[in-house]
Amino acid sequence: MATVEEILEFLPGSDCRQCGASCAEFAGFLVNRELAPENCPVLHEPDYAGFIEALHELLGPATPGMRIDPEKCNGCGICVTMCEFHLGNCDAARLGKGPRPRDKVVFRMINGAAVVVHQELCTRLIQAAEKCSKCAEYCPTEAITLF
Ligand code: SF4
Ligand code: SF4
Ligand code: SF4
Repeated sequence: MATVEEILEFLPGSDCRQCGASCAEFAGFLVNRELAPENCPVLHEPDYAGFIEALHELLGPATPGMRIDPEKCNGCGICVTMCEFHLGNCDAARLGKGPRPRDKVVFRMINGAAVVVHQELCTRLIQAAEKCSKCAEYCPTEAITLF
């Protein structure tokens, strides 16, 4: 997996913030797949020809994933009860209850925040064509990022 330092080698380094962030922050967004190299307008200038392609090569093929920001999560548990996988596979979550310890679930509430425990069960990752995104859509604080 590419590091922020490696990515920075292929960014203009001007911190012009046309992308809404500094170059270093932008590099972090690229590593986390929250933005793409194309989102840096400066890289489209002739001086940087080939940089966008080089960044794509460095980043490698995108693999779907998910992340929950603990700073934003308010612990409401909506994601647990709305999750497509839970609705089909977890009786407790389907009834709006907390999953039992033996239930295999995508995420659980731990110390008052949702935590991804079995990302590999996420319907979206298994059936890419379906592209489920219910957890992120229903999260009231936009704590869930799917990429
Ligand atoms: S737009 Fe490009 S050059 Fe400007 S700060 Fe963002 S990454 Fe750096
Ligand atoms: S729906 Fe959002 S705020 Fe609620 S528990 Fe899940 S991640 Fe946290
Ligand atoms: S994308 Fe769908 S299946 Fe995956 S965790 Fe979110 S709601 Fe569950």
